Amino acid sequence: MFVLFTESTARSGMNAGRVLALVGIVFGSVVLHELGHALVGAHSGVAPKAIILLPIGGVTVFDETQRHLEPGVLTWKRDILIALAGPLVNFLIAFVAAGVLLAVMPGVPLWSPYLNSANLFRSLVWINIWIGAFNLLPAYPMDGGKVLRALFARRMDPVVATRRAVSIGQAFATLFMLLGMFGNLWLTMVGVFLFIGAQLEERSAVFQSVLESVLLEDIMLTDFATLSPADTLEDALQKAVHSLQDDFPVIRGSDMVGVISRQKILQALRAEGNGYVQAVMNRIFEVAQKKESLASAFRKLTSRNLSIIPVVEEERLVGIVTLQNLMHSMALLAESRKLRKAELNS
Ligand SMILES: [Zn+2]
Repeated sequence: MFVLFTESTARSGMNAGRVLALVGIVFGSVVLHELGHALVGAHSGVAPKAIILLPIGGVTVFDETQRHLEPGVLTWKRDILIALAGPLVNFLIAFVAAGVLLAVMPGVPLWSPYLNSANLFRSLVWINIWIGAFNLLPAYPMDGGKVLRALFARRMDPVVATRRAVSIGQAFATLFMLLGMFGNLWLTMVGVFLFIGAQLEERSAVFQSVLESVLLEDIMLTDFATLSPADTLEDALQKAVHSLQDDFPVIRGSDMVGVISRQKILQALRAEGNGYVQAVMNRIFEVAQKKESLASAFRKLTSRNLSIIPVVEEERLVGIVTLQNLMHSMALLAESRKLRKAELNS
């Protein structure tokens, strides 16, 4: 969300305490707006990671790795709900504050849409109306723009939907910058931030779609070392020394029974001396299918804090994907995309 600050605090006989209170009201309203996004997000399965407060407003950062967990229909509805939650909080505050104000002081003039430290309660009402309304402008990545993007995404490829929302957002951003030049520096700044924000969102959508389109069979390691549960830790360490792998699948016959990392082997050796892999290995692991996407593997790795995922085909181990290997292949993918782009341009 973004805050449009009105000029009014600059004039009028200022009282430091009241000005401070007004700043507190603005700050509080921004935080509550972001909390609205965060709570609805958490409630609908997209964990908020952080709320960042900028000089022009706040941003709620969600855990993007979870964003596409459920496909299609649910996603756009959920995105709309999350986007609307922020402005809704502000309108609710404005409504309640206006109600209280009218009840306590009937006949008080509410109709002055400026922030004024001499009239804190009225400012509380108006700052919230401003924050709510301004954020509903369809200028991606502001809340209204997010709603628009979600509506596009109903029947469009998500990258195309984002791109379309981004162009509209950047048109607004340019307009803000231009309008701001006629005396409102704040609006110019909002325009600049909005422009950059839209750009970043577009980039992350493209990245996400690459992750979705690459399959595990394209990047999994097929040449890898395995351990047996009956191996001693000393043996395991020997194998680890001769391989570049940090993580090993543990196999009994043709069954996967666990995973173990080089680090864990070392730790166990140091702590308890030699023993068996069986006793130390991690039995909780996730398996992935050959045809699963890179994005899905990434979610599995990060959500359960794993560093290796065995890839199976008809219950047979055909490869492994490790965090280390994922990082490498993503860097390679990015490079090859750049090269392809350069080829197209030349
Ligand atoms: Zn918002």
